[in-house]
Amino acid sequence: MKLITFRYEGTERVGVLTADETAVKPLPYADMNTLIERCPLSELSAVAASATEAPIPMTHVTLLAPIPHPRQDLICLGMNYQDHLDEAAQYDAGFSLEKPEASYFSKRVGRTVDPDGMIPSHPGLVERLDYENELAVIIGKPARNIRSQDAADCIFGYTIVNDVSARDVQTQHKQWFFGKSLDGFAPMGPCILTADEVAFPPALRISTRVNGELRQNSCTDHFIYPIADVLEELSSGITLLPGTILSTGTPAGVGMGFDPPRFLHPGDVVECTIEGIGTLTNTVQ
Ligand code: MG
Repeated sequence: MKLITFRYEGTERVGVLTADETAVKPLPYADMNTLIERCPLSELSAVAASATEAPIPMTHVTLLAPIPHPRQDLICLGMNYQDHLDEAAQYDAGFSLEKPEASYFSKRVGRTVDPDGMIPSHPGLVERLDYENELAVIIGKPARNIRSQDAADCIFGYTIVNDVSARDVQTQHKQWFFGKSLDGFAPMGPCILTADEVAFPPALRISTRVNGELRQNSCTDHFIYPIADVLEELSSGITLLPGTILSTGTPAGVGMGFDPPRFLHPGDVVECTIEGIGTLTNTVQ
């Protein structure tokens, strides 16, 4: 199933797309966080079947980011594709990893950007604006001390996050938090693809275009740190609550990976696509 958040007649709702994706069937939850918390994936089909509201044509609704207000900061993986690690280290030696452990950081998100929303360029603060197309894993039930072989059971679904990054801000501080967390730096969507629709671990084509030009083109089975191992490691010390968003890192082809670098400017259109989930199309403001 594909779950979406949408606005209809002035109200934000959640629902499931019909098979032909031309309409959305509203579900009886206040928002996506509540749905994830209260409706186990195993019960979602029955809930959708028993929902009484008629499907609403997609032409009558405004599509919003599936989780407009994450309850916690996003957990992000840095350097999870070898080709991206290589290009980042070429841009700035500080990016090179000498240790074999995963690199984790958090990303503050007050409001995710809608699938067709604007990415603010923060003039005066940011000169090196960049994109990072990433598969985001959404946790469905409290996860503590998960073994890697059981990790798939705690995943509710997947979406796309563009981990927009201010490279100048990111590298001038010792931590990446500020340069990754500016307002409007987390476009998300267009839907949550439920985990039962995807073989685990997911092997999905991931590609990015900027103004129509193909920049990133890879597959989510190229991870250095597999999702199952990451969930085992994180849950050994952190209880991952329902609605937790884990953004799994980006492949090669970001702006800083080019020589000379090709950063984003107002008017640029960034399209992030992941097979089976869809495309985010965001314009730099
Ligand atoms: Mg990233």
